[in-house]
Amino acid sequence: MNTTLLAAPLFATLKNQPSDSLLELIQLFRADPRAEKIDLGVGVYKDEQGRTPVMAAVKQAESALLSAQESKSYLGTAGDMGFVDALIAVVFGEARRGDRSLSGLQTPGGTGALRLAAELLNRARPGVTVWVGSPTWINHFPIFQDAGLKISEYKYFDRDTQSLTFTALRKALETAQTGDVVLLHAGCHNPTGADLSADQWREIAALCAERSLLPLIDMAYQGLGHGLEDDADALRNLLSVVPDALIAYSCNKNFALYRDRVGALFYQCADETRRERLRGNLIHLARTLWSMPPDHGAAVVRLILNDAALTQVWTDELATMRGRVRNLRAALAMAHPGLSFLTRQNGLFSTLPLSPEQVLDLRTTHGIYMASSGRVNLAGLATAQVPALAKALKPFL
Ligand code: PMP
Repeated sequence: MNTTLLAAPLFATLKNQPSDSLLELIQLFRADPRAEKIDLGVGVYKDEQGRTPVMAAVKQAESALLSAQESKSYLGTAGDMGFVDALIAVVFGEARRGDRSLSGLQTPGGTGALRLAAELLNRARPGVTVWVGSPTWINHFPIFQDAGLKISEYKYFDRDTQSLTFTALRKALETAQTGDVVLLHAGCHNPTGADLSADQWREIAALCAERSLLPLIDMAYQGLGHGLEDDADALRNLLSVVPDALIAYSCNKNFALYRDRVGALFYQCADETRRERLRGNLIHLARTLWSMPPDHGAAVVRLILNDAALTQVWTDELATMRGRVRNLRAALAMAHPGLSFLTRQNGLFSTLPLSPEQVLDLRTTHGIYMASSGRVNLAGLATAQVPALAKALKPFL
């Protein structure tokens, strides 16, 4: 190592990192004394009262767990395989339970699954290219970069017309090299809410198969778009066309388990020898990253999914959450025709075509808080606040 570096005090050579602007926004919102303020910043589901409650199904499963759990001894690096198995039926369909070409392991949330996938890819092909549509979830770039992957960016969405730039995606996949990785959001795209149509998915699946590209699917919002089954259709069709794929899954939104960090990394691999090597490497990587995933939330999900009555409680609550967001989208579109695009989009998010100055103006003049990119979390809104938001946006949209 260079002697100047060695002479520097420890940590002095570290670069300053940008602060998290969403966390700053939370603090600004908290400090705002105005009663009519609206928080569209933070990316969690909120009910009409602005709370992010523990779901009733989770509460019931937690009390069952509290009385029945006899040990907290280690489970192993793959985590709770009962959880993984039960989740396979929800994500991929009951028919794929027991299908040896598809398996997975528990991870600390969707973030853990993505990081593990990235580490695996870099081990398999150091510096492999991952194609990422822009804009995307803010954490995708650093996760892939830190793991050593190369990112090729293409335009996914045009904010001004609120439409997908599908030709750019198709062109990216036509340009990609064999073995490149393609990151796709399974649905409820963060930050735009704009999802591929069924036909577009079919086209992408065919391109991946034809050109031997590896799909890496980020599924963080199953059930918050059109429904648990509908939200999985595109993924299931894709997996019927491509031999290999990785799927990073989060239970933190659809079970509202956020801080309990529940997720899984699934893989489909048709060839048995390669599949076993893949699993061995995932286990080896996870062992050095977190050794074992946190248990509690995954045990709760397993209990819910293995009990028909609890599953019903959960799916009903999820339907209420989904319905609330859909209703808010429809109400905003009714209140202001310039927001009609909201009804064509899915999930919590949309990215409004606002400049950073307009975003700041909304905050200072009306107490409406959102990311400077114009990303809004619609669940931050109470129905009674719809007219105020529509009115405040009128001069800009
Ligand atoms: N992917 C996307 C697209 C997300 O929006 C999020 C959460 N904001 C995640 C993955 C990761 O979620 P978590 O780590 O909380 O499961």
